[in-house]
Amino acid sequence: MARRKSARIAAQEPKLPNPYGPHNGDSDDAAGLMSASQPSSPDSASSASDPDPEPRPAKRRKVTKHTPNTTTRSPTKYSKSNSLLLVQSIFTSAPHDGRALPLRPHPPSYHQPLLLSSPSAQASLLRWFQKEQTTRLMPWRKPFLTNPSRADLSRRAYEVWISEIMLQQTRVATVIAYWNKWMTKWPTIEDLAQATEEEVVNMWTGLGYYSRARRIHAGAQKVVTEMQGLLPDTVEGLMKHVPGVGRYTAGAISAIVFGEAEPMVDGNVMRVLSRQMGLMGDVKGDKRVVDVLWEAADRLVKVVAEADGEEGEKPGLWGQALMELGSTICTPKPQCGKCPVTESCMAYAEGLALASGLKQAVPDIEDGIACVLCELVEEDAMEASSQATEKKGRQQTSKFFEAFQASSMKEKDVASRTPLSQELNTIISHAQRFPLKKPKKQVREEEALVCAIRRVSDGQYLISRRPGKGLLAGLWEFPSYILPASNDSTTKSRKKQALDYASGLVESTDGYRGELGTVPWLFSHLRLAMHVQLFELDDSDRSLRTLPLESNYRWVSSDEIESESMGTGMKKCWSLIKATRE
Ligand code: SF4
Repeated sequence: MARRKSARIAAQEPKLPNPYGPHNGDSDDAAGLMSASQPSSPDSASSASDPDPEPRPAKRRKVTKHTPNTTTRSPTKYSKSNSLLLVQSIFTSAPHDGRALPLRPHPPSYHQPLLLSSPSAQASLLRWFQKEQTTRLMPWRKPFLTNPSRADLSRRAYEVWISEIMLQQTRVATVIAYWNKWMTKWPTIEDLAQATEEEVVNMWTGLGYYSRARRIHAGAQKVVTEMQGLLPDTVEGLMKHVPGVGRYTAGAISAIVFGEAEPMVDGNVMRVLSRQMGLMGDVKGDKRVVDVLWEAADRLVKVVAEADGEEGEKPGLWGQALMELGSTICTPKPQCGKCPVTESCMAYAEGLALASGLKQAVPDIEDGIACVLCELVEEDAMEASSQATEKKGRQQTSKFFEAFQASSMKEKDVASRTPLSQELNTIISHAQRFPLKKPKKQVREEEALVCAIRRVSDGQYLISRRPGKGLLAGLWEFPSYILPASNDSTTKSRKKQALDYASGLVESTDGYRGELGTVPWLFSHLRLAMHVQLFELDDSDRSLRTLPLESNYRWVSSDEIESESMGTGMKKCWSLIKATRE
């Protein structure tokens, strides 16, 4: 299905040639990699908006007896042809009834999303989102533009683009204030293109990952000079021509703004689809799992868009509905009792069957192909979980419920009734197992000296610019030095190291005033302790104007520091310095 941007611009507007060629309406390549702009860690992205802690992974065992010789559980050894076979097995088999017991091991077709063949579940999710979409007051959420002018479409695409980049790795509540401030300063993409990179990075201070700000700025200049201010409407065009736009952001812009039937898969959507599909795979480390989830999202949005006719708001609403569900209901600890799509959820059906005490069925492994994406939960772990929840529930409920649960039940009876409260606990507990959680990597710990070198005569401070690549690239800071790893970091040892380091910057370090304190700062991969050292140099210091690496160093006033492009951790060091001097 091709939904053309040109058709969406009002007839009175001059039509410009589309430099990107026709949109290929075929499904995205299932073997495609995750986008560069997509949160590198889908779960960490989702955790920004999800208040509940990650549950502990269940005890698991690897099952090899059902795995054919031609396949292996190692992602790196899974051949492309087998990968395609796997996708085919999931999406082209006859739909299952969705009321299976926890079938482990199981065939790939077990993961075919029931949402695909359930118009009632699709409608239920959209209805729920129509009611919910205004509750979190996100200013970038606006009605779909029908028959817009070129200027309106340009502005709408710009608004969604900025919001999607800001939302990567950042909470919605934080982004709202930044987005409003940004749009007040640069209401159009042309305004942004005229700003300096310094201004843009400065505005970004506090959002982290500053390369995103630089790419947005470069992208705005490119879109204005080469595309007459209007972002491309297709995923391919956006990814190819706009710096910093990856598969997720491209899908969001294309669907929300231009009505294209394109998927948008962030960490929240990965969690929702893993549960809907009963897929207990590693969404961070197994590319095959990621591919299958993108394929499912792609098929779903196309099915929903088909039902909507030629062009409209459904693709954007659908993508946002899945994301909203993942960030408010289907959180790491889900609220299944409030979910609008329980009828199509495999994790829910499995949990309900588990809570009802139904025995595990013998799986039907078609053509000898077993699912190789899921880690298999040990039966005894599942039963233990179920029994633990039941026991807890029994303490809270009456004998009547106990008797009811003990009675013999058929699968269809289980599927069609509302769960009891203790059963809901089992369902939630079971759903929390999806997606598979791998142990988190340890965060590296480092210590740094941050040297505030102040010139007494005019009160100016020495600052330096970080290298153009790497952590906090290009930002300004007080001259800093990462301490070698050691177990004996003390105030005394740091004083010696600070004097050594500063002597490479200024000729005399007689003005050393001591350590003001330590500012802890946490990056995604690094815990940094910044020990702030103060130097006050008088004018007799001959070296003040003969610094090394001159272009990367400046003397600046306190007011200039306030408005300088510095990382948030360094700004906290500045607060400590100011507080000491007041
Ligand atoms: S039923 Fe529960 S696990 Fe399934 S999608 Fe809804 S909230 Fe998520």
